[in-house]
Amino acid sequence: MIHAGMEPDPSTGAIMTPIYQTSTYVQEAPGVHKGYEYARTQNPTRTVLQNALAAIEKGKFGLSFGSGLAATDAIMKLLNPGDEVLSTNDLYGGTYRIFTKVFERYGLKFHFTGMSDISQLEPLISSKTKMLWVETPTNPLLNIIDIEACAALAKKHQLILVVDNTFASPYLQNPLELGADIVMHSATKYLGGHSDVVHGAVIVNDEQLHEQLKFIQNACGAVPGPHDCWLVLRGIKTLHVRMQRHCENGEKIAHFLKAHPKVDKVYWTGFEEHPNHAVAKKQMRGFGGMISFTLKDDSLDAALKVLSGTKLFALAESLGGVESLIGHPASMTHGSIPREERIKNGLVDSLIRLSVGIEDAQDLMDDLNQAIG
Ligand SMILES: *Cc1c(COP(=O)(O)O)cnc(C)c1O
Repeated sequence: MIHAGMEPDPSTGAIMTPIYQTSTYVQEAPGVHKGYEYARTQNPTRTVLQNALAAIEKGKFGLSFGSGLAATDAIMKLLNPGDEVLSTNDLYGGTYRIFTKVFERYGLKFHFTGMSDISQLEPLISSKTKMLWVETPTNPLLNIIDIEACAALAKKHQLILVVDNTFASPYLQNPLELGADIVMHSATKYLGGHSDVVHGAVIVNDEQLHEQLKFIQNACGAVPGPHDCWLVLRGIKTLHVRMQRHCENGEKIAHFLKAHPKVDKVYWTGFEEHPNHAVAKKQMRGFGGMISFTLKDDSLDAALKVLSGTKLFALAESLGGVESLIGHPASMTHGSIPREERIKNGLVDSLIRLSVGIEDAQDLMDDLNQAIG
């Protein structure tokens, strides 16, 4: 995480990659240049970040975008009108929104389904299916999808397997090694890690896929600025130590909630009784800091009281930063998914989601305890 893909700046030896705040590069003669022509196409700060992203995801090529959704947008532009996508139903609300509200208008068709049981997927695949979209662990219910099994299915039917690896981060899971074709990240979350940047990433192994995506990155232009690239580079350098602490704190808080008399269900991938715990253990190196739970009093009021009652956990959208956040998926991150669709997938109105930060675990438990009352 500290060194992979990162080299001292070739022009000065600066150990930290400089922020190349420039829009263009001077050429010696027409077409004679140092590999940089125009900053939408290439920027040296972005180049270093893209190499670092490829290295930490154990891939060959990395591409940066202005946000996670800009990365998703570029990936969907690999498809043509009439193509169909099979997607997990328990996914980030903004991803659901761009699929249904934007790309359906351009003739793509999406099927949303639970993917915890892979055997249910094959009947949904037709000759028009071109892509399998997987988010694991899922958001906010922390279901686990077997990436290797998805890769086998994708290979058999010649589908592009995309894994949104935002929740796990490359420290806990490397989908390319498990057979995925494309990994995407909202680097806004764990990769950036400090709630100070919005950024997206795509990592692939296949050269042709890289060429296509690089073409889209430049042709459509959803590129990040160099300062944002620098912030993500800086975030990556501490990803491993932050993730270790997120995992430790997550484990403590999951067990604390489970033992709390007023708490009903706790969703955390590390519990032995989690329906896909064995798959989580196989494909992840730890269980992360994302936890969802419901109270025994399942009224919306009771949930809202906890949501506004914490002092350390900040009530906010997003996740993956050093500070702990508490959120209400039904009205916040997943408000763009219709209520019937949400309830059908198990996302009830009283569900509370935690992004456990790296503060002192006892302080966090004390805070939850006083808020739950
Ligand atoms: C936040 C998020 C996104 C979208 O990323 P942005 O950087 O907000 O555009 C996509 N997937 C998941 C799992 C996310 O949490």
